[in-house]
Amino acid sequence: MQIVWFKRDVRLEDNAALMGAVATGQTVLPLYIIEPALWQQPDMSQRHYVFLQESLAELTKALEQRGSRLIIRLGEAVEVLEQLRQQFPVKGLWSHQETWNGWTYARDKRVLAWAREHGIAWQEPPQHGVIRRLKNRDGWAAKWYKQMAAPMLRLPTALPPLPILSSDALPVPHKLGLRDDGCIARQQGGRTAGLRLLKTFLHQRGERYTREMSSPVMAFEACSRLSPYLSFGTVSLREVFQATEQRAHALRGVSAEERSTWGGSLRSFSGRLRWHCHFIQKLEDASRIEFENFHSAYNGLRENDFNEAYFTAWKTGNTGYPMIDACMRALIATGWLNFRMRAMLMSFSSYHLWLHWRQPALHLARLFTDYEPGIHYSQAQMQSGTTGINAIRIYNPIKQGVDQDPSGVFIRQWVPELRDMPQSLLHTPWLRPDLCGDYPLPIVEEKDARQNAAARLYGQRKGQNYRIESKAIVEKHGSRKAGLPQQKAKKSRKAVVSPLQQELPL
Ligand SMILES: Cc1cc2nc3c(=O)[nH]c(=O)nc-3n(C[C@H](O)[C@H](O)[C@H](O)COP(=O)(O)OP(=O)(O)OC[C@H]3O[C@@H](n4cnc5c(N)ncnc54)[C@H](O)[C@@H]3O)c2cc1C
Repeated sequence: MQIVWFKRDVRLEDNAALMGAVATGQTVLPLYIIEPALWQQPDMSQRHYVFLQESLAELTKALEQRGSRLIIRLGEAVEVLEQLRQQFPVKGLWSHQETWNGWTYARDKRVLAWAREHGIAWQEPPQHGVIRRLKNRDGWAAKWYKQMAAPMLRLPTALPPLPILSSDALPVPHKLGLRDDGCIARQQGGRTAGLRLLKTFLHQRGERYTREMSSPVMAFEACSRLSPYLSFGTVSLREVFQATEQRAHALRGVSAEERSTWGGSLRSFSGRLRWHCHFIQKLEDASRIEFENFHSAYNGLRENDFNEAYFTAWKTGNTGYPMIDACMRALIATGWLNFRMRAMLMSFSSYHLWLHWRQPALHLARLFTDYEPGIHYSQAQMQSGTTGINAIRIYNPIKQGVDQDPSGVFIRQWVPELRDMPQSLLHTPWLRPDLCGDYPLPIVEEKDARQNAAARLYGQRKGQNYRIESKAIVEKHGSRKAGLPQQKAKKSRKAVVSPLQQELPL
């Protein structure tokens, strides 16, 4: 028997672990393990679990349609696998490589020890473009492209039948210690919803992508909204990439008028699909960045200044800055926010409130339905100025409000206390405290807090040692142009790099 252990890949399509197991010709046991200890980690929340439940329900149906079944077991992974080994002649274990939080990393080490002890071959094909045991970043983008361009794996229409085997019911969230977190407008889990979004994005919504992605007024529609589906793997990154390439190809044949802004949008979108793996690769190469600063020069800078009252005001959307509070409250209710507003929330907590990034990042992890540790902690540190390789970017929440929500619809929707505030005061309501009602006054003075933070951050960025360490971080984690050595890049780029693959983050 071969066990296929579904992890962050809740789908049958383009699933290398499942295909590998099927190819052995032996009985295949599709398994999902609900691990109570995982759900008690500080980065997990009910919205993640309910999204997973919905996704597992679809996976169950899809397996049944192929004559198989999803076996769900509740417990610690090694114990569950050992029970199965005692019941059946288990010869192989299959799962995609997982680059996830510290808890899953430690659990995988225990599973590996168990597999070795019992002579069970644990095969872990890559899930997308992240490379395990990568030596350095040279050529990384070209490898990523090659992986994305490889043919999709298609499953046979029938799977081998399973022997009689019990399956546990999915526990209700509170049995796992999860509590209702106010996500009243969460995205629906599963594969069908993800594919629907992919289709509407590539054929309708995506036209406005580059123009509208930064404003929370438009971004809920104009962005793809595929992130939770990619994070839980109900759709594969490769299928999204290939559908995007096909759409770009088809558009080459239409008139300039019909093509409109599609070219730029698809290029930009496709670049972000690569960023997905680019950032996860950082965590794969250095699991410590979930807990520690990328650059050691920032160690000790904020740790002793953690202000609980500021943190509470920020987490609940009560800082007195309308754009910050509207974003936090929208996120609590929907489980999603566009990139710029995520960056602004993180920047505000790290700079204006001078909070160390770890607790705010955990709070956001629980709120993002799409929580993906590799992207999340890299971005949290980027927006907190602790990577040592990125420019320090401090978002001014008043300017962001004026630029991204000029007519105030978003703020009025999420901060009803300000619904009747005159438009001219909406982004600075403290100028008329008599009209603020229950809405709080700002907890910090914006300009002072911003300048103070900038001075403290830049103060750390001096000296030879700082530069040496930054250089080492760029060497290990920084992107390279098209993943090719500089001198060869021009010549061979055409052959291996898609025209869509242009933008490069650090
Ligand atoms: C502080 C902070 C934390 C973040 N945490 C997460 C997280 O936990 N999970 C997550 O998926 N994204 C995270 N992001 C990145 C980004 O904001 C989201 O991927 C994006 O908003 C998701 O919406 P979408 O699917 O509509 O994106 P689209 O703009 O439609 O992009 C398509 C896909 O590309 C990838 N992508 C887009 N932007 C980025 C980016 N900047 N870096 C890496 N990949 C990207 C995502 O997989 C996304 O689904 C974070 C950003 C910040 C600033």
